[in-house]
Amino acid sequence: MKIIAIGRNYAEHAKELNNPVPGLPVIFMKPDTALLKDNKPFYHPAFSEDIHHEIEIVLKISKEGKHINEKFAPDYFDEIALGVDFTARDIQQRHKEKGLPWELAKAFDNSAPVSAFLPKSRFADLHNLNFRLDINQQTRQQGNTQNMLFSFEYIIAFVSQYITLKKGDLIFTGTPQGVSKVNVGDRLQGYIEDQQLLDFYVK
Ligand code: MG
Repeated sequence: MKIIAIGRNYAEHAKELNNPVPGLPVIFMKPDTALLKDNKPFYHPAFSEDIHHEIEIVLKISKEGKHINEKFAPDYFDEIALGVDFTARDIQQRHKEKGLPWELAKAFDNSAPVSAFLPKSRFADLHNLNFRLDINQQTRQQGNTQNMLFSFEYIIAFVSQYITLKKGDLIFTGTPQGVSKVNVGDRLQGYIEDQQLLDFYVK
């Protein structure tokens, strides 16, 4: 399986990092070794002093597809989850300044904690879904999918023009504003609507 992630999909987040609001989705990938499941602790890596949390809705692809028409995109995912796109912001900044790729900042081991998946049918409106991240019991990020620049369906259609999507692939759909550094000892709790899906520590 592969993990595809969308950057700058919420305008207020793009602005907080002084990035332009994109006209097309910004795509990057994480390897399967980035996955961190079952609310296991995230061990802070020594190579960065500025690991940021990015809370995101994650789609799980349910069947293979390429050149998927946007209007059929809902047929290609049945379940959603909550994930954190951990980002070594210091490394990313250095690479951005030189116009270099982001893998060392985004694709490192355990950089993609993902919750259990829920059937999308459980939610009344995927285009109006509240989600949030609390750290040490304080809300740090709050988002609603209606503020995405590119919808789930558009993302699936766009990515599948270039990369075949396979059953089990995950798509991180972008983070709202409020990203900041995590510290050893922090407790991260993530919610879709009022349902807690993530609850793990930084060690
Ligand atoms: Mg992200």
